[in-house]
Amino acid sequence: MKTTDVLSRPALQKYAFAVLCSLFAFCIRYSLDPILGDKVPYLIFVPAALLASWYGGFGPASAVLILGLALANLFFITPGRTIWPEDFSELTQNAVYVLSTLGGIVLFEMLHRSRNRLHHLTEQLRETEERFRLMVKDAVDYAIFTIGPERHVSSWNPGAERMTGHAQAEVTGKVADFIFTPEDIAQHAPEQEIRSALEKGQAIDERWHVRKDGSRFWGSGRMVCLRDEAGTIKGYAKIMRDLTQKKKWEEELESRVRERTGELQNSNQEMEAMTYTIAHDLRAPLRAMKSFSEMLLKEHKVGLNAEGKDYLSRVHDSAERMSNLVDDLLEFGRLGRESLNLERVSLDQIFDGVLVRLSDDIQQKKASVEILHPLLPVKASRPVLEKVCCNLISNALKFVPEGVVPHIRVWTENGTSVRLFVEDNGIGIAREHQDRIFKVFERLHTKEKYSGTGVGLAIVQKGAQLMGGNVGVESAVGKGSLFSVVLQRP
Ligand code: ADP
Repeated sequence: MKTTDVLSRPALQKYAFAVLCSLFAFCIRYSLDPILGDKVPYLIFVPAALLASWYGGFGPASAVLILGLALANLFFITPGRTIWPEDFSELTQNAVYVLSTLGGIVLFEMLHRSRNRLHHLTEQLRETEERFRLMVKDAVDYAIFTIGPERHVSSWNPGAERMTGHAQAEVTGKVADFIFTPEDIAQHAPEQEIRSALEKGQAIDERWHVRKDGSRFWGSGRMVCLRDEAGTIKGYAKIMRDLTQKKKWEEELESRVRERTGELQNSNQEMEAMTYTIAHDLRAPLRAMKSFSEMLLKEHKVGLNAEGKDYLSRVHDSAERMSNLVDDLLEFGRLGRESLNLERVSLDQIFDGVLVRLSDDIQQKKASVEILHPLLPVKASRPVLEKVCCNLISNALKFVPEGVVPHIRVWTENGTSVRLFVEDNGIGIAREHQDRIFKVFERLHTKEKYSGTGVGLAIVQKGAQLMGGNVGVESAVGKGSLFSVVLQRP
C-alpha cells in the first residue's frame, strides 16, 4: 500500500475504520472475559489503536484509544463498571494504557511522516529526472553530452547525434576529442578546455568542430565540471550550439565591411588627389591676380579714382586670402599623401624654431611665451611636428580679446606616451564647439574679427594622428584654452 493513501483517504472512512477496530477489539476482549476476568482490560485495544493509526493517522488512532479506555472501564474492570477509574490501581492501569498506546501512535505517526517525506522526495527526484531526460532528448538544437574524468563519452543526446553525425552507440566510451579539428588537437585545445572547466568551474568556447563526414561546424559551447558531494570529479557536461550560419553571416559581413572600407578609402584618396590637383592649379591664376592687381595699384594709380582703387585692393585681398586657403589646403592634403619618417625629435629644438618663425607676431603683440624647458623628446616626424606646434602657438597668439597681452605656457608630461600642453589666456572655446574646431573649415569667428582659413587645427589633428597620437582641448569661454597633444615616446 502506498503511504500517501493515509492522506488521500476520506476522514469519514478513517474514523469508521477506527470505530470498527474498537468494536472488533471489544468483541475479542468480551469473548475472553470469562478467562481473563479483570486482567489486562486494555491490552487488545492497543493493537486496535495502532491499526487505526496505520490506516488513518493520529486522529482515528486517538479515537480508538479513547473508545478503548471507556469500553474497558465500563465492561472489563470490576467492580465499578463506570467510564472513569475508581481507585488508584485503575488509574494506574488507565495511565499505562494511555501512555503506551500514545507512544505507539506517535511512533506510527513519525514513521508515516518520514515515509511520506521520502516518498515525496523520491517522486520529486523522479519527476526532475524525467523532465531532464525529456529536455535533453528533445533539445535537438543543442548537443548535450557528458564525459568522464578521462574524457570518455558517457552520454550523448540526439542533438549531439544530429550536430556531429555520430550515433550514441558509436561514441560511448570513446575519448571525446573526435569533434575537434586536427589543428586544435595539435594545440591541445581539448585538454585546455578541461583545465579551464576545472579551474574556473566552466569553460566557454567557440571554435570550428568536425562532423563525422569531415565537414566543419562552428560550435559555441559551455563545459561544466561535475563533482559529487565530497568534491570528487565525476566528469564534465557540455552543452553546445551550432552557430555555423551566424558565423558565416558574420564573416560575410566582415568581408563586405572590409570591401566597402577599401572602396571608401580609394574614393577618399581620389578625392584628396583631386583636391590637391585643383588647389595646386589654382595657385598660378591667384598669383597672377595678386601681382597684376599690385602692379595696377602701383603703376596706374593716377588713372584710377578712389572707387577704382578700393575695388582693386579688394580684389588683391581676396586673391591673397584665397591663396592662403589654397596653401593651407595643400598642406593638409600633403599630410595624408606622404609617408612619415618617425624619428626621435627634440621638442626643445622644435619650439626654438617655432619662436623664430613667429617672432614678428610675438613682438608685435608683446606676447610672453613661457617654455618650461627641458621638454621631453618624442618620436615624430620633424616637419609635421613643427607645423603642429606652429599652428597651436599662432592660434594662441591670435585668439585673445582686444587689449589683452597673450601669455602662453608650454610644457610636457611623461606617461605611457608624452603629453605636450599649450596653454593660453585667450578668448576660450565654448564646450559645444570643442569637437568641431578640429574639422576643416570650421571657424567660430568671422574673418573680419580674427583672420584665418579654418584649416590650422585640422592639420594639428591629422598630423598628431598620423604620428600615432591625438589632440584634445579643455577650455571655457573667457577662461583661455589648454590644448594637449599626445605623442609617442621615442
Ligand atoms: P583658423 O585659426 O584659421 O581660424 P583653426 O583650424 O586653427 O583655424 O581654428 C579653428 C577655430 O578654432 C578658430 O577659428 C577659432 O575659432 C578656434 N580656436 C582655435 N584655437 C583657438 C584658441 N587658442 N583659442 C580660442 N579659439 C581657438
